[in-house]
Amino acid sequence: MSNTMTKTIACPECGSENEIKVYKTVNATTDPDFREQLLNGELLHFRCEHCGYQAELKYPLLYSDIKNKFMVYYIPEIDRDKLTDEALEKEYGELEDITRRLASNFNELKEKIHVFESGLDDRVIEVVKAALRDVVEKRTGETVTGGYFSKYSVDEDRIGFTFFVGDGNEQFVQTTRLEIYEKSSAVAKAFDDQQSDRSFKTIDRNWARNAIYRYRKNK
Ligand SMILES: [Zn+2]
Repeated sequence: MSNTMTKTIACPECGSENEIKVYKTVNATTDPDFREQLLNGELLHFRCEHCGYQAELKYPLLYSDIKNKFMVYYIPEIDRDKLTDEALEKEYGELEDITRRLASNFNELKEKIHVFESGLDDRVIEVVKAALRDVVEKRTGETVTGGYFSKYSVDEDRIGFTFFVGDGNEQFVQTTRLEIYEKSSAVAKAFDDQQSDRSFKTIDRNWARNAIYRYRKNK
């Protein structure tokens, strides 16, 4: 079950008090509606009932999907110091054979959910993303500022990402054959092959760059 509580917070705009629902955990298996509301932004949306001010709520939230065997611990940058909830970790710490990840912003959280729901390995995804990011920079001659997993089709034999390019953050979709994903698996797994570890890990661009660097060096 998902775990929620009610909290009173002051509106950052007008200072009035608002009662909000805080979701400490979201369980996608037992509460698919919460999953939906999280992904469409509703769950972490704040609207002041006094002045109408709107903002994205930022607080730690543990997302779990036991069916797809993964958990993502969303800890917004802003809350890094407060960090983790020990009671929560204990409660979920006993579960075996579960991939545990950290996400430091909402987009990262959403991307992890999409990757794991697609049955893919996020370590391999990050390696492919890092390689395609270089391809996009070469093709456009511009700097890529970010990107996320956006396509996976076995029928079309494509896996792909939407990148943000240049000062205007224009979207650029780059796809590749699934064979590249299979090949990148060796790069990711040579760097980290222990999924048994029960700590929550950050698997991001830096991680992928290190994996690629290590792989090339050892070849
Ligand atoms: Zn307000």
